[in-house]
Amino acid sequence: MNEVVKFAVVENKIDINDYLEYVEEKIKMTFLEMKVEPKQCYIDRLDISEKVSIDNGNECYADFYIENQEYFVGFSFETFNKVKQLEISINNFINITDLEKSLNSSQITFLEKFKIVLKNNILYTDRDKELKSWGKCIWLIDKQSQVFATMLYPMIYETENLYRELINQVMVKVFGADWWDTIVLKDLKDDQRSKVGTYKSIIQSLNDVDETLMSIDVSDLSKLTKLKLSEWKPEYNHELKELIQVFRKQQSYKNIKGIYLDKAIKILTSQLNDTSDLWEKYFSKILSISFFKKFYEFSTNRNHIAHNKVIDRQAYNIIKNSIDNVRNELLGALEHVNSDMRSLEKLEIDRLEKEYDTQEEEEFMREIMESESGVEIKSEDEIYIIFQEAINTLYQDVEERLRFRLDIEVENFEGLSYIVDNQILFNIKHLVTEKEIRISCEITIDTSQGGQSILKIIYVYGNRNETFNVPYINGEVSYNEEQCTYMPETEDEFGEIQLQEAIDELIDFVNINLENLKEKVDNQKYTVIKEGTSSPVADIGCCNCGENYICIDGNYAEFGCCLNCGEKNEVYECEKCGKYCNETHDVAGVQLCENCYQKFKEE
Ligand SMILES: [Zn+2]
Ligand SMILES: [Zn+2]
Repeated sequence: MNEVVKFAVVENKIDINDYLEYVEEKIKMTFLEMKVEPKQCYIDRLDISEKVSIDNGNECYADFYIENQEYFVGFSFETFNKVKQLEISINNFINITDLEKSLNSSQITFLEKFKIVLKNNILYTDRDKELKSWGKCIWLIDKQSQVFATMLYPMIYETENLYRELINQVMVKVFGADWWDTIVLKDLKDDQRSKVGTYKSIIQSLNDVDETLMSIDVSDLSKLTKLKLSEWKPEYNHELKELIQVFRKQQSYKNIKGIYLDKAIKILTSQLNDTSDLWEKYFSKILSISFFKKFYEFSTNRNHIAHNKVIDRQAYNIIKNSIDNVRNELLGALEHVNSDMRSLEKLEIDRLEKEYDTQEEEEFMREIMESESGVEIKSEDEIYIIFQEAINTLYQDVEERLRFRLDIEVENFEGLSYIVDNQILFNIKHLVTEKEIRISCEITIDTSQGGQSILKIIYVYGNRNETFNVPYINGEVSYNEEQCTYMPETEDEFGEIQLQEAIDELIDFVNINLENLKEKVDNQKYTVIKEGTSSPVADIGCCNCGENYICIDGNYAEFGCCLNCGEKNEVYECEKCGKYCNETHDVAGVQLCENCYQKFKEE
């Protein structure tokens, strides 16, 4: 059998003549009061030896069955210095698991009631008048109480940690991971630091974790939530300066007059301004004003359990209720913190999700409108693609049309970037003069129905520039209520004509600003012949293109530069005949052309 309850009463105030009679009376009184009728109830003196039947007369027992459970209650009388003591031990076959089960159900068990009624019947002569038969009662063992406490302890532990978690969540989100170092008052920190040292030396495996919060006393947790934040704004104070001068003269603060210290402290503390109150600013928004009262009760109960005090079903229910109250409030607050005080990363995910949802919805509606009306309503991406293609067309056309201008280079084009601001597309360079035309664009997109997007193409040469607007007008539909369908209003339209115009104008812009010097020379050939003026080009072939357009007239281009292809040629003038040539022969310091050199050799 297991001893489930054991208690003792000491200092008898009544005379007990016959122990067995006394026990019989108390047991029967108890059954009567509890209105139970036990089966096979035996009340007798206990044999102290199983082998020899010796009755010491001091020990009695009651053995009975209630609801098929056997109970054995032992009574042991002893006398010390004429003062009596009675020890009562209640035993049965219920193991701890069954005990837990029985206590977890809402039905009060026989034993819970029995131990109390029996105790009362023994301890009191008249309970109503508080008339005692014994000086006091000492509760020694109570497995039921132990089970109640064991059931409560994990709940208490979990709830305490919820509070810690809540504080940490709020603090980290508001003040960052270093909140403990930055905002907690020094005395609390010092107090905690001394504890951490001792804990850590025992737990090797967790030596490297931050368990600041875990080691804070439960009572200090509430202090954290009510913390006042303050800011020290040091300001020059003449009186303080004088005091510091006095302090410096002294070796120890013990020598400083108390009044001086008081004054200095007063000045310094006046420079500390309270900026905010954590409770008002944050915690009051997630915890009720009655939370501290609830938590105070919780802590008191916690200490009761932690200090191994006896509890019964009623106490269990009260404590459990108190735990639930605190726990539920903390859970609610944590949920609030997690949903409202979101980290930057979580906020960004929220934003993207929202954006995605809106886009999905718009996309869906657009598809319906398009399929019903047959009108295309283009998205931002699609309009970009249209403009991208337009720019590609422009580039290819320009490159094609300038193909025969060997003096011009159309630089590489990397493709339109996905930006609306002014972006440089490519440059067109004159290889002879090295001057450039820059082609850039700006994009304005309006994805609304019937909205006009603009591809602005800009040509710049020095301080001259030209701008062309190539429009794209998005499709427009209207809802026909009678037919319950979307009808076309305007078809979408791209400004093909404007694009062509822009391309034609670019070619003109190039021809005007990056003049074809070869043509210019050709046009002047007649004048040269007619008026006998000298030709601006030498009568020798370019080393690159082979054409006779090597410039010798500084009004056109650099000396030696080929007007056809821009190649820089080495050109010399024969010092004898005055003709231009690619190389000369040195004859006694005189530079001669091939022709004159041959003649010289023949002579
Ligand atoms: Zn050339
Ligand atoms: Zn010559």
